[in-house]
Amino acid sequence: MPGNRVRVLVLNAALGPLDYRVPHGMAVEPGSIVVAPLGPRQLLGVVWETERLPAEEVGDNRLRNLIAVADAPPIPAPLRRLVEWTSDYYLAAPASVLRMALASTAALEGARTTIEYRATGEVPARMTPQREQALDRIGDRQGVVRELAGLAGVSDGVIRGLVKAGAMEAVEVDIDRPFPPPDPDFGAPDLSPGQARVASILRRAVEAKAFQPFLLDGVTGSGKTEVYFEAVAAAIAAGRQTLVLLPEIALTEPFLTRFAARFGCEPVAWHSDLRQSERRRAWRAIAGGEALVTVGARSALFLPYRDLGLIVVDEAHETSFKQEEGVHYHARDVAVMRGMFEKCPVVLASATPAIETRHQVALGRYEELKLPGRYGAAELPQLSAIDMIRHPPERGRWIAPPLVTAIDETLERGEQVLLFLNRRGYAPLTLCRHCGHRFQCPNCTAWMVEHRLIRRLACHHCGHTIPAPEICPECEEPDMLVACGPGVERIADEAAALWPDARIAIATSDTISSPARAAEFVRRMEAGAIDIVVGTQLVTKGYHFPELTLVGVIDADLGLEGGDLRAAERTFQQIMQVAGRAGRGEKPGTVLIQTHAPDTAVMRALVTGDAESFYAAETAMRRDADAPPFGRYAAIVVSAEEQELAEQVAQQIGRTAPGIENMMVFGPAPAPLAMLRGRHRYRLLVHARRALDVQDVIRDWLGALEWSPKVRVAVDIDPYSF
Ligand code: ADP
Ligand code: ZN
Repeated sequence: MPGNRVRVLVLNAALGPLDYRVPHGMAVEPGSIVVAPLGPRQLLGVVWETERLPAEEVGDNRLRNLIAVADAPPIPAPLRRLVEWTSDYYLAAPASVLRMALASTAALEGARTTIEYRATGEVPARMTPQREQALDRIGDRQGVVRELAGLAGVSDGVIRGLVKAGAMEAVEVDIDRPFPPPDPDFGAPDLSPGQARVASILRRAVEAKAFQPFLLDGVTGSGKTEVYFEAVAAAIAAGRQTLVLLPEIALTEPFLTRFAARFGCEPVAWHSDLRQSERRRAWRAIAGGEALVTVGARSALFLPYRDLGLIVVDEAHETSFKQEEGVHYHARDVAVMRGMFEKCPVVLASATPAIETRHQVALGRYEELKLPGRYGAAELPQLSAIDMIRHPPERGRWIAPPLVTAIDETLERGEQVLLFLNRRGYAPLTLCRHCGHRFQCPNCTAWMVEHRLIRRLACHHCGHTIPAPEICPECEEPDMLVACGPGVERIADEAAALWPDARIAIATSDTISSPARAAEFVRRMEAGAIDIVVGTQLVTKGYHFPELTLVGVIDADLGLEGGDLRAAERTFQQIMQVAGRAGRGEKPGTVLIQTHAPDTAVMRALVTGDAESFYAAETAMRRDADAPPFGRYAAIVVSAEEQELAEQVAQQIGRTAPGIENMMVFGPAPAPLAMLRGRHRYRLLVHARRALDVQDVIRDWLGALEWSPKVRVAVDIDPYSF
């Protein structure tokens, strides 16, 4: 009987699609989410093909029956093609990619309602410090007991006690309650002529329902968001869905507010911080097609949109779109492929487009849309370098005299200052002055970073922490430990010493750890409750603070160390981004860049504003070296807990490297992070010409080898850090 045998991709990374029989009375179609038996277990899977399949190794009578079909919309064909493409291109198991589309099996589970709790406003008869803290932190938020306890930093028992005391109450939540539909005409702005021209091109592309990649290129504050909102409006009007990808979840909150001002309600947010019930609700609305606009970090890319009409990648140059764990993929590039399978336009928005993206424009594959200058009265800030050799800070300080003077003047005018240093914590290294001992992470090749706010040393790679030591564990001398180098906390201390009356805030992933905290930070900035922000790259994008007029870059040379292929490009992008925070309102902005090397090409490009010649020189260098986007790289990283084992397998891979034209293999050598989370790592770097299908070569090469299950071999196609 045709149709009663189907091929199913089950969620097991070791397996490809398997054949099953569809029992009588069960109806499946391509994309159906099903429960399938595998050995003694039951696994979730997706029906991949339903055509009559040839009888293969397993005879029909040995096929096992599918167990159930999930009560959920099927995974649409374009997404199934995307899963296949991603798995082929990035050499990842198809099931590992599919897992991202199913997001979490909980998205499929049965119950339609759940019980959550919220404050009643009543004060409990007996108030304890813990109860007070819980009510204070929870505010008007709602959630299940565990979530609220986590939010409030108290035990589950405290929340239950508050319920008993009448200070909190249970509410039944309908998990499938609808999201409000955004209104395309709600807060439509008057666009400038330059903006209107670009917006109409994007609107037409959305209406044409065809694949078309765009680079939306305009300086920070030129209105890129305002303009791509017009494309979103066109998609909403056409009843099709939009996905907006942001590089970090910290940017979600300001985006939601801005979206609501334009469209009358918030879009559907997708990020790792979602409660389980919210996750399920969002997944179902996306799969059902009711969620018209979704905004999220890269994991939103693989969700099963029913009818996608537009994809926007905001801040498209951001390196955080590159996923470095699990499936190693670049969300910007996968977004373009998704647009191809979905037959819809893809807009990459950036003030500092990546060289790879510019190259696609040069090849005529992407259409470039340029916005002229900043919108309205706002002008681009003035950038200048402070030569740290000519203007050294005082001993033990990091803020040079010219920057001190500029901060004095800015504070006197009642305006805000941002000091940028891309390093969390107080100091990157702790050293014993007596014996020279340095605190290293036991699991990683990395120094332990001092975090004075929590009085601990922390590894930024594996998260291992220890209490801040008082004596050297090596020589046991007291009072000999010194902090070397600055982190944001140390700069904040220095600022507090220099400007004792200023209100200073630290903005990093430690202090802005959730969308709610980001919202609070924005509120305080807007209310003028902060004079000086000391922050990492977290505050370099997205925010719009009209009173912020001075940006100081504490160490512009930081990103140039280490000889990374993209180091200069990244430094340029990062400083342009952070500079873009200054002078966004009516008041002009100033950017002072502290550097020991004011004569490098990057610094000159920043100060003169001549981005084009900088990019031209960088591109020429890449062409000469046959580096991306011309030639390509792939990294093969071999890791194991036992160093010898990792080294052996790496050498075996190196010995069996195919000697073919257009490809060179370097290594194995210890990876730049030679130890990570307790695993020793070796790396081989493959350099290939474009003409070569390097994935195919690596697939055959590694496919012919075997190694112990204690060894992990990860392939990173188009790697970012090497
Ligand atoms: P970008 O995304 O390029 O950094 P934005 O879209 O954030 O630029 O615009 C910068 C600021 O200018 C925002 O506050 C935005 O609301 C405002 N703006 C831009 N274009 C317009 C417009 N046509 N009408 C009103 N405000 C605008
Ligand atoms: Zn570590």
